[in-house]
Amino acid sequence: LNNILRAVKADLSGNQPCEIIDDESLLADKFSSLQSDESKLQGGALGALARPKSHLECSTALSLFASSGKQIAIVTGGTGLSGGAVPLAGAQMISLAGMKDISALGFDPDKGHHFVRVQAGVTLAELNEHLGELEEKVFFPVDPTETSASLAGMVATNASGARSFFYGSIRNWVRWIRVVLSDGSILELTRDEFRIIDGQIILEIGDEQRELKLEGISIPETKHTLGYRYRDDSDPIDIFIGSEGTLGVITDVELQLEPVPTQRMYFLQFFNSESSALSFVCDLRKEEKLKTLAIEFCDRKSLDFVLQSSVRSDCKAAGLIKDSHKAAVYCEFICETEEELLTLYERLETVLEKNGSRIEDSFAGTEDKDLRDMKMFRHAVPETINSLIARRRSEIPGLHKIATDMSVPDEAIQTVFDLYRGHLDSRNLEYAIFGHAGDNHFHVNILPRTEEELRVAKEAYKEIAAKVVSLRGAVSAEHGIGRIKKAFLLEQFGADEIDKMKKIRSFFDPDLRLSTGVLFD
Ligand SMILES: Cc1cc2nc3c(=O)[nH]c(=O)nc-3n(C[C@H](O)[C@H](O)[C@H](O)COP(=O)(O)OP(=O)(O)OC[C@H]3O[C@@H](n4cnc5c(N)ncnc54)[C@H](O)[C@@H]3O)c2cc1C
Repeated sequence: LNNILRAVKADLSGNQPCEIIDDESLLADKFSSLQSDESKLQGGALGALARPKSHLECSTALSLFASSGKQIAIVTGGTGLSGGAVPLAGAQMISLAGMKDISALGFDPDKGHHFVRVQAGVTLAELNEHLGELEEKVFFPVDPTETSASLAGMVATNASGARSFFYGSIRNWVRWIRVVLSDGSILELTRDEFRIIDGQIILEIGDEQRELKLEGISIPETKHTLGYRYRDDSDPIDIFIGSEGTLGVITDVELQLEPVPTQRMYFLQFFNSESSALSFVCDLRKEEKLKTLAIEFCDRKSLDFVLQSSVRSDCKAAGLIKDSHKAAVYCEFICETEEELLTLYERLETVLEKNGSRIEDSFAGTEDKDLRDMKMFRHAVPETINSLIARRRSEIPGLHKIATDMSVPDEAIQTVFDLYRGHLDSRNLEYAIFGHAGDNHFHVNILPRTEEELRVAKEAYKEIAAKVVSLRGAVSAEHGIGRIKKAFLLEQFGADEIDKMKKIRSFFDPDLRLSTGVLFD
């Protein structure tokens, strides 16, 4: 273990030319979609676009861009929800979407697991399909819902999703990354090879040596993606995971894989009261013998959206919704043995009875078709919301939904729920609450009907975020800060802590050109 990171200087011989488009009209005609991402934040026109096919080409592009001194935006899948990939006007952009190689499967005998190396642009869907065709029964467990997200983008945002309740975020699954720094030099970070020692790390690029004395940042214990995560003895790879493109361009990633479990069980339970649904969530996560992958929640408004959606007629689970249901909880379990399956049934029945709910109000299955049905059910909520808000936007162009992404500690689950209801009901806003209840992480979607309601919704969000921080929660659990939640990051850490993060930022990117204005100004 050592604290000296050695980057290899960029090769300026021109041996690895990279496709760079700088024709303004071509950029405007063919690549204007890159001015925005799934956050729908609108950026400015691009000054140039580089489309590398390898880390060496990426290095060439960055060293060429370095001479211009302009800002550089980084995009791979473009599915981010916080505007981190959105370019400022005139920025140069690196798109890694064309980097599609997947290596042969490897096996680490010391750690006893398989692993795979992918180039930045491989999407989650492509990786899943590739692994599904192999003889070895392995899979990649992190599932941030949107399968067109790239693996590099997922590392850059420390992506998680429903199953992070069991598997954690992608951070737990990254073994190695290759990063190209803003001057084009190439850095490789293997997990457990480096450490921050006594708060210090050293970066060597050829003859140049930089030293950084890090000061600790108070990281919340709850699920989070909040800029640079480190403690005094952290592994520097963890500073890059979740750095949202502000420290370097991730060109390759090596990921740990899991054996495919013997059996999965999907389970959806309806409740006649919200409080019994939340109490069921709390009791279920105490069941340590169960391998519970995901615990997801839908309130009554979300159930109404499922009923209004186009999938209603094809989705068995949707057909079970009754007027008396006030909430639903969706869970996913794995079982390796018959005994585990029996324990699961017994414990589920006990926990349901304790919370006044009956197994008749449930839908369960173990086959792929059941998973598809459940996915249809869950996806129907955001899909219906998105088409509703699109209709409203066609009449009032500036309108958009506000989707929260905050987590709190276990003991605050009911408090945060009441907080949302109190702030949003008192302002007469329309909203639905759904999401990752196992991690006390709800995506509350506020649906303004007018511009005034949008203003009021933003004001409510700000107040709720401040309370979440006071509950020792995180203002971003998985989507990241990007450009649109910078004020919340300041609320989370305060100016002094943000200054500590800025030192890290300028250590790796002294001219502050990568993803300028992302995380903080
Ligand atoms: C319908 C929907 C559902 C979603 N659900 C979830 C969910 O459950 N959980 C979750 O975590 N996320 C979710 N997301 C958000 C999104 O899919 C993730 O943030 C994803 O990890 C982004 O990957 P991407 O390749 O699209 O990144 P991009 O959108 O391209 O970029 C995201 C950020 O990472 C940076 N970045 C991208 N590529 C690189 C790179 N190669 N090197 C360095 N920085 C880079 C960008 O600059 C930007 O700051 C959802 C999105 C959608 C649209």
